[in-house]
Amino acid sequence: MAAQIIDGKRIAGKIKERLIKEIEELKKQGITASLSAIQVGDDPGTGVYVRAQQRSCEKIGLDYKLHQFKKDVSQKELRDFIARLNEDTGVSGIILQMPLPSQLDGRILQGMIDPKKDAEGVSPANMGMVVYGKPLLAPCTAMAVMELINSVGVKLYGKEAVVVGHSDIVGKPTALLLLDKFVTTSVCHIATGERGTLPQYVSQAEILIVAVGKANLVKGEWVKEGAIVIDVGINRVEGKIVGDVEFEVAKERASHITPVPGGVGAVTTAMLLKNCVQAAKLQSK
Ligand code: NAD
Repeated sequence: MAAQIIDGKRIAGKIKERLIKEIEELKKQGITASLSAIQVGDDPGTGVYVRAQQRSCEKIGLDYKLHQFKKDVSQKELRDFIARLNEDTGVSGIILQMPLPSQLDGRILQGMIDPKKDAEGVSPANMGMVVYGKPLLAPCTAMAVMELINSVGVKLYGKEAVVVGHSDIVGKPTALLLLDKFVTTSVCHIATGERGTLPQYVSQAEILIVAVGKANLVKGEWVKEGAIVIDVGINRVEGKIVGDVEFEVAKERASHITPVPGGVGAVTTAMLLKNCVQAAKLQSK
């Protein structure tokens, strides 16, 4: 039987409805939830992303401020600017837009953001809280993956999951969040692919998460019957956006599957907004 398609847009819509109410509640208490974005240079891709971010914030009543810097800005200038945003009580969430020009060390700059204002949940302190099983502001995509899995309504305890991809902001934190729910979790990466054992791992997965960035890397026929499949990948193929999983075949085997687009991406944006609201609450304590 064909899988149920997990509707990321609908799930994101519900999260945003809740956030609108929370933002109104905070306003009544004199707290303004906001997102301050730092953009360096004029990369057109980042520009598109920033405008979409601004629209998403405005739609739910979250204040959005964009701070633009020339592409030759120094590490010190940005460090000082982040320090000022950290001090500013009117700023609740901060995001440093990637990619950055080569003279800048993004990881160090992200680490300078006050963990309570880290809208993307990527600072070492916030990653550490994920390791401890006490996420404060967790990485948005990993949280989106958990939200999508939870939307299916299955008991996670004791399930077998496979995460394909071990990046710092997606694969690794997703695996940690799953472990925290007592899901037995295997993590695959490029070396698994090179060894040729990826199909074996994938075929064991009751919950499969793929975050690689290679179109149709995971063949539909590898997918276990009845699996929940979360496809994080975003790839442009012949002008169309596709995921990392061979969707048409996989959907005949899976019980639930996310589409690309319309799956993880929509919920990731909602999680960024949720982190900003959470950040405002953390600072008001
Ligand atoms: P990354 O490039 O940092 O990491 C890629 C991972 O894939 C690595 O762990 C690598 O070892 C692994 N890999 C590469 N080739 C492989 C193979 N043949 N077999 C098995 N593993 C292999 O990627 P990332 O930043 O985690 O992003 C992954 C994908 O997810 C990209 O397409 C990105 O655009 C997308 N993404 C989507 C969202 C969203 O909101 N939907 C958010 C973040 C990233």
